[in-house]
Amino acid sequence: MAIERTFSIIKPDATKRNLTGKVVAKFEDAGLRVVASKRIQMSQAQAEGFYAVHKDRPFFGELVEFMISEPVVVQVLEGEDAIAKNREVMGATNPADAAEGTIRKEFALSIGENSVHGSDAPETAAEEIKYFFNDDEIVG
Ligand code: ADP
Ligand code: MG
Repeated sequence: MAIERTFSIIKPDATKRNLTGKVVAKFEDAGLRVVASKRIQMSQAQAEGFYAVHKDRPFFGELVEFMISEPVVVQVLEGEDAIAKNREVMGATNPADAAEGTIRKEFALSIGENSVHGSDAPETAAEEIKYFFNDDEIVG
């Protein structure tokens, strides 16, 4: 295992319900460090570009509308095996399938409004970090 960086978003359903700190505590309790963080209002173009991989899925329009409905918190998380560890702490996409103690089990409202995004592989982590952060904004 190696020290990795991964990309995370605290989604609108969580920022709206004032759960930012509770979500960050889950990452920190799992040994992940927040090495970059900013609260932003995503534009439609930014959300469409970020989720371009899902553009042909039936939920794409709904997903983009949701992601721009309220501010989000974009973050870079660092730690041992950070990409897989973050996915583990997040839980399954559908909160109905998420394991006890995971963010999505505790906080998500539905398969769409599921509180967090996390990169799924080293390549996507690198791309997604670059999409939102300059190098000088990441302070490890
Ligand atoms: P994950 O976020 O767990 O990596 P995906 O990459 O498959 O999941 O999907 C991206 C996001 O699209 C999900 O987190 C969720 O917000 C939304 N989504 C996925 N599947 C559905 C669905 N069936 N209906 C509505 N929204 C969905
Ligand atoms: Mg995904």
